[in-house]
Amino acid sequence: MVRVWREGPSIETAMLLLAEACERIAATTKKLEKIAIVADYLKSRRAEEAAVSAVFLSGRPFPMWDDSPLQVGGGLLWQSVQDLSGKNQAALTAGYRKHGDLGAVAAAVLPPKKPGTDPLNAIEVQKLFRGIAKARGASAKGALLRELLARATPLEAKYLIKIMTGDLRIGLKESLVEEAIARAYGSTLPEVQRANMLLGDVGETLKLAAQGHLAEARMRLFHPLGFMLASPVESPEEGLSYFSNAAVEDKYDGIRAQAHCSGREVKIFSRTRDEITESFPELRDALSGLAEEAILDGEIVAWSYPPQDPPEQGRALPFSALQQRLGRKKVSEELMRQVPVAYLAFDVLYAGGELAIDRPWRERGEILNRLLSAPRAQGVESRGPAQGQLLFEPDQLPAAAHVIRALVFRASAPEQLEELFVAARARGNEGLMIKDLDSAYTPGRRGKSWLKMKRELATLDVVVTAVEYGHGKRIGVLSDYTFAVRDGDRLVNIGKAYSGLTDSEIAEMTNWFLEHTVTDHGLLLEVEPKIVVEVAFNNMMRSDRHNSGYALRFPRIVRLRPDKLPEGADTIERVREIYERQHAGKTSPLL
Ligand code: AMP
Repeated sequence: MVRVWREGPSIETAMLLLAEACERIAATTKKLEKIAIVADYLKSRRAEEAAVSAVFLSGRPFPMWDDSPLQVGGGLLWQSVQDLSGKNQAALTAGYRKHGDLGAVAAAVLPPKKPGTDPLNAIEVQKLFRGIAKARGASAKGALLRELLARATPLEAKYLIKIMTGDLRIGLKESLVEEAIARAYGSTLPEVQRANMLLGDVGETLKLAAQGHLAEARMRLFHPLGFMLASPVESPEEGLSYFSNAAVEDKYDGIRAQAHCSGREVKIFSRTRDEITESFPELRDALSGLAEEAILDGEIVAWSYPPQDPPEQGRALPFSALQQRLGRKKVSEELMRQVPVAYLAFDVLYAGGELAIDRPWRERGEILNRLLSAPRAQGVESRGPAQGQLLFEPDQLPAAAHVIRALVFRASAPEQLEELFVAARARGNEGLMIKDLDSAYTPGRRGKSWLKMKRELATLDVVVTAVEYGHGKRIGVLSDYTFAVRDGDRLVNIGKAYSGLTDSEIAEMTNWFLEHTVTDHGLLLEVEPKIVVEVAFNNMMRSDRHNSGYALRFPRIVRLRPDKLPEGADTIERVREIYERQHAGKTSPLL
């Protein structure tokens, strides 16, 4: 096959070259080698094509800010691979067990590409991805998907599938792609990182780097920036050990949201940078008409609004209440009444034409207060000041209805932090966020300037009823457990979690489960209900996903309980009790 570089009709082998580069990246564990392979590949392509490739190499079909979900589930991909390969379900299942990854299965079972089929290049592939994203319904999407895969060699198909599922699994993160861009085009890493953070688009960043224009990168309103992340702390002492000027806020249990506001135009983005404005029309309205253009950071929570007189702030409702509002394109007036929401604003990234992220937290806090207390373009009602031992003077804290300034406290001793923690839990919140008053906002980074302090709500001792083969590092071992609680003398499932056990425990348990399988469904094995494990979780909700009628949010397996028999596992009554306690808003913080 001919390989042509830069100037020529490089389209000939482009997607194949990318797939080959991915194979080489996967084959080495050395970070520097991975970066060198990516840099060499990028340099060999025209900037337009290298830009799209950089997005693909970050494990995404589209740039981060782009909210076109492909909505191609594993089932549809599986079916397409099956159709094109002519293999039966058992053969594919066996392949999946071996490789733990549908892309790798495709490479093994798909026939060679038909001679004379047009070759693929990255730009074209992205166009085809867009077509799939736009297509409505599984059959339309399936047809386009098969068309795309039929034009690919088995190796290309492997990576097309991996990109579509959002996980290349070649040990490459966007941060390494940034390093490769710096290397390929002779820029410094901080220059590339800053441009990428402002643009939220590694492809656009690459184009600027290729032209030597990285300094021209500007924050773009309505293109989400990365979210600053927090590190966990285990104790109040640790919470105060990293910096001396600590601002403390409640940790609200909702969804993180970045609000871009310019006059009447408002867009709200989730932590995955998807646009979610449509799900929260009342927040869009409440945020419209801010006196200045702004980007706010905050948490959307279900909120219980108290009567207006006397003015009070109200309180957050559990995450499970908010769930009914998530993922909706249309929201009825009735639902808005049934599940009222609020935007708890706690930071500002941009205001009045100026980027605020490099300013220390205390200054951003002042800017946020100014923004939220300034008169609106339209008469939006105001909520009264909040009470408490606040860092900001109460008269600086009025907030419009639906947009509420998160309370900010000060703590300088572990006992104060403990007290605030108990108070936050009593207000129905998850715990505390501890923030360094002197720190800048670092989008997309998890550092020690923001700390989170929460404790497990409770743990449950549950019985494993079914197990599944894992993927990635967990190929060939049974690492996903479905588990149940007791309901009289039967067991009812309540959740499923990846095992948090050690590799050797998982290996040992895999052998046990294989010997005690009741029914083999291929990837899922029903097993004898003998093994008890302890699971932790963030929250409990009602759900018909499992036959207990409950589900756990973020369940994690804490440890095996070889000391317990299934008869000693927790019961549905205990589940109800925990659920009621959560929903009554009562907390037992020291569990
Ligand atoms: P976690 O999801 O456990 O990593 O905790 C971090 C998340 O807590 C953030 O992404 C926010 O969604 C959420 N959060 C709730 N309240 C706050 C707050 N006051 N400041 C920052 N993040 C908060």
